[in-house]
Amino acid sequence: MPVYGKLFIGARQVATADTFKAVDPQSGESLKPAFSAAGPAEIEEACELAWSAFHDYRDLDADARARFLEAIADEIVALGDELPERGNAESGLPIARLAGERARTVGQLRLFADELRTGGWLGIRIDPALPEREPLPRPDLRQRKMPLGPVAVFGASNFPLAFSVAGGDTAAALAAGCPVIVKGHSAHPGTGELVAQAIVTAVKRCSLPEGVFSLLNGNSHALGGGLVAHPRIKAVGFTGSRAGGRALMKIASERPEPIPVYAEMSSINPVLLLPGALAAGAGALGKAFVGSMTLGVGQFCTNPGLLLALDGEEVDRFVAAAREALQAVEPAVMLTPGIHSAYEKGVGKLLGHPKVQVLARGPEPQGKYCGRGALFSVKGDDLLQSPEIMDEVFGASSVIVRCAGEKELVEVLEHLEGQLTATLHAAEGDEALATRLIPLLERKAGRLIANGWPTGVEVSHAMVHGGPFPATSDGRSTSVGTLSIERFLRPVCYQDFPDALLPESLRRDAPPRPHRFDGAYRAA
Ligand code: NAP
Repeated sequence: MPVYGKLFIGARQVATADTFKAVDPQSGESLKPAFSAAGPAEIEEACELAWSAFHDYRDLDADARARFLEAIADEIVALGDELPERGNAESGLPIARLAGERARTVGQLRLFADELRTGGWLGIRIDPALPEREPLPRPDLRQRKMPLGPVAVFGASNFPLAFSVAGGDTAAALAAGCPVIVKGHSAHPGTGELVAQAIVTAVKRCSLPEGVFSLLNGNSHALGGGLVAHPRIKAVGFTGSRAGGRALMKIASERPEPIPVYAEMSSINPVLLLPGALAAGAGALGKAFVGSMTLGVGQFCTNPGLLLALDGEEVDRFVAAAREALQAVEPAVMLTPGIHSAYEKGVGKLLGHPKVQVLARGPEPQGKYCGRGALFSVKGDDLLQSPEIMDEVFGASSVIVRCAGEKELVEVLEHLEGQLTATLHAAEGDEALATRLIPLLERKAGRLIANGWPTGVEVSHAMVHGGPFPATSDGRSTSVGTLSIERFLRPVCYQDFPDALLPESLRRDAPPRPHRFDGAYRAA
């Protein structure tokens, strides 16, 4: 399928005078075609179209919405090899990785379709009337969740498929019954356009109002800011930098009608190496750690950027194994020249820091935008004096913190910001220490991992990909897994409504669904 470089306002492909081009990070060359950039007129049109589609789309029954998500998945698969090939040209990510990401993308769309059919997401609660109750009767109260309205989704640079045009935020919002306007990431507009073609075909196949989906491309902050400020937009999903997320949170909170922004931003994913685990296999841990740290050139939000251990000989063994492993990892191209330059700057700061020691670097890179791995070490008390050492460096850079004792380890952990994950390597003899640390880690992170690595996020029902600020803007939510639908729903209660006026899901003769009846949990 050709890439035209146009925007999608509903089903209509739109060209504008203002254009930009994607850059192949492998060569630094611009890629064809030129892409139209959306301005205020296109924002206005897409938002009004989304609003007009909302009224029908929100009332669509769950099975029809599930079939729509499945149709999007089918159409993405039908794009064939062209999709990972374009993704590779625009992001430098290997074709095999992009094929895996496509499987994850269609898998999560289908998972949401299954979730819709369970009806659990409706959150139904029924408190039947108690007319005889003393001293006051209770009215009949029925609650269900309903969609918020059109959602603005910001595609992420590091997941051109699974967190982009038809990624997790889009799947969750469409499942909830919210039309979606995607602000495509300017690093991969062709990949985004192909996926948009698949969604628009699915909209037509399912005979849905065209405003259910639009794609606005561009490379100026005015586009994202204008979209978030538009009164028809009722929520935002974002994955990217802390500065970008915070800017959008500010715009959203200063609107006449403030709206929620679900931004996933910055996390260094601490990994704790407890003494028993190091004694049982420091070498194997060092090697496995480098595998996680360098995966995808470290460009994962779950990259392990900070290791913590009680200082001792076993830490030296861990470091020796990690150093050897890192020296064997060939640097690969990073997603964009800008991300490469931010990485170099972050590594440069650590290289020049008087309290930080360089333990190992990856081999010299061959390409201009390749990310060369970097492993550093710092003493616990020095880190406490220089907390900037904990600033996220997006890429394959990590710092090992050598702590003088448990007290210092706890102090360092207390100074950590909110995290997506916290990992604990514990073996025989570590139980007491682990038990003391877990409550602290629970306060800091959205997902705790035992004896594993934080990279690799399962898309499932129990997954939490969230955490306190700055990991996300709202630690009560997740952006991966079926629970992420909750971000785009709100509860509505109907008091003393006759059946004829109630939504179908709350009527007395509604098909059985999981719900709470008079406070008790009931299966379907
Ligand atoms: P980014 O600069 O935050 O951009 C993400 C999206 O937000 C883009 O569409 C960008 O569009 C938009 N945006 C950014 N700042 C904005 C603002 N002030 N107003 C309106 N829109 C804004 O992230 P990136 O380009 O993906 O990568 C840059 C850095 O983000 C990386 O070096 C890394 O530190 C971090 N990052 C983190 C994660 C994570 O998972 N936590 C993932 C990827 C990147 P325009 O630039 O076109 O306006």
